Amino acid sequence: MTSVTVPAAEGRAVDVASGQRIRITTPRGHQAADFFAYNAADVSEWLSPMHTWVTTRSVKPRPGDQFLSRYRRPMLTIVEDTAAGCHDMLIAACDQKRYEQFGFEGHHRSCSENLAGAMQARGHVVAVTPQPVNFFTNTLVDPEGALLSPPNPVAPGAYVEMEALMDLICIVSSCPFDLKVEGWTINAPGGVSELEVSVA
Ligand SMILES: [Zn+2]
Repeated sequence: MTSVTVPAAEGRAVDVASGQRIRITTPRGHQAADFFAYNAADVSEWLSPMHTWVTTRSVKPRPGDQFLSRYRRPMLTIVEDTAAGCHDMLIAACDQKRYEQFGFEGHHRSCSENLAGAMQARGHVVAVTPQPVNFFTNTLVDPEGALLSPPNPVAPGAYVEMEALMDLICIVSSCPFDLKVEGWTINAPGGVSELEVSVA
């Protein structure tokens, strides 16, 4: 088994071979985990929530669902979820511009930067940041279509486990979002925290 700690606000890439399982845990709870997956043999093929939800007919990933690539091929199956479905597939990965929109001055770590750095370390240039699956991220769409982000209820130790259906490079980013924005509480007030990733 391979275990990797993703330090708070950083990102890491792991190899997951077909048939292996990847588990992502938030040890302190309430920590958004941006998740990206690429076909290890052709990184032009990446996990696409848009292609996934039109097939599963749900904007929330659920145990038994398959995540599809942008070529509509199955990449992973969700095996277990102890976060009670508290995940998001709608919000783009945060990036420098997102923080500047909120008035932040200077460089701010972001999931887009974490992804690019993790892939660059493997010799891949990320020209387009894919839509991530945002595990442990509490969003909902109300009946009028408004997108809401209530406080994050995910308990310490919650995890999701997936089985790979092809050889993958998976990237997990501890979302560095730490701005105080009314009605938009992505992480816990206690701050950004680490994630644990294991592959077996
Ligand atoms: Zn983020």
